[in-house]
Amino acid sequence: MGNELFNRLDEIYPELVEFRRDLHMYPELSHTEVNTPRKVADYLSALGIEVRTGVGGRGVVGTLKGDKPGKTVALRADFDALPIQEENDVAYKSQIPGVMHACGHDLHTAALLGVAKVLSENKDKVAGTVVFIHQFAEEVIPGGAKAMIEDGCLDGVDVVYGAHVSSTDPLGVIGLKEGDVMACGDTFEIDISGKGGHAASPHLTVDPLVAGAQVLLNLQQIVSRQVDPVKPAVVTVATFEGGDSFNVIPDTARIKGTVRTFDEDVRDRIEASIEKIAISTCEAVGATAEFNYVRGYPAVTNDPAETKRVERIAKELFDEDFVKHIPAQMGMEDFAYYLKEVPGTFVWVGGALEQKEDVFPHHHPRFNVDERAMIPIGRLFIASVLDYLSEDKGGDGNA
Ligand code: MN
Repeated sequence: MGNELFNRLDEIYPELVEFRRDLHMYPELSHTEVNTPRKVADYLSALGIEVRTGVGGRGVVGTLKGDKPGKTVALRADFDALPIQEENDVAYKSQIPGVMHACGHDLHTAALLGVAKVLSENKDKVAGTVVFIHQFAEEVIPGGAKAMIEDGCLDGVDVVYGAHVSSTDPLGVIGLKEGDVMACGDTFEIDISGKGGHAASPHLTVDPLVAGAQVLLNLQQIVSRQVDPVKPAVVTVATFEGGDSFNVIPDTARIKGTVRTFDEDVRDRIEASIEKIAISTCEAVGATAEFNYVRGYPAVTNDPAETKRVERIAKELFDEDFVKHIPAQMGMEDFAYYLKEVPGTFVWVGGALEQKEDVFPHHHPRFNVDERAMIPIGRLFIASVLDYLSEDKGGDGNA
């Protein structure tokens, strides 16, 4: 049943490329998106889809009612860019200095609009409702997902699907995982106060750098000695700053870092441990520590049944060799919030460029992807929607 819809998706592909390249040329940073949501809303409106803008702040939600009643499926794409100066030499290079779509969210957006277009032209095949969630600010905590959910984007939704393009996996490879697939991520900051002075008279000072160095090393014991070894956890200090000369012991030092894990108990334990270690280590040498911990996104936990559904569909649509079970990764994604509300699954879709020397990781100034990844993303979304809605669940009609 999908075939003519897939043909239509292929047909409008050049239009999607054009849309993606326009977003790529005019990227907007998280929480500052103005033109991107307007372009998305205009596109959806032109399809005759009911559109709500300013959802949760800057989000756009399109609602397509099929010709027949049924359940409600939500599809989500994010549309924010990153504070990176693009170094790609392409015709559609970012025209905004220091801002770049370096995570493929431009492509997610265009692919989802393609799905919206195809489904809006085939309402007779849609037994239920499809909600298109175009999300702002995925990259910066607190993220747009939570605010959009609080503003009702999941109201009446039965299931949610999301996809992320990968710049390093081969074009069209579908990566699936049941259960935890991406970590929860938090940040912490430790401000250490000592007593500065002459570098030649350390005995007259309280050296915040030495205290900080001890804190940094003591933190290494958390994962190795306090966390259950079969539960993944990362405590990384990414910044250690203080002092600015050869012969002055500074008054203060600062440590910043991130915590990644999947388990809420482990998360609680790590937060408490960092604070305890920071404060007691500093106290032992006469310094003081101020501790600040900010919780980021929860873990992305895929529903097993919905992941199996998408796997079955992917194997029907694509070569079986292209459908892979992927390991969990310590990166984070605010798609997590949708999955806390309704079942669903978050899928990775390969979009590596053909030339090896053009392949760069996400968030890199030379990040780019093969735009043809929009086709497998679009097909997977269309097929998942139709499959879910065609299932007879003795449901409650168009609730
Ligand atoms: Mn991303």
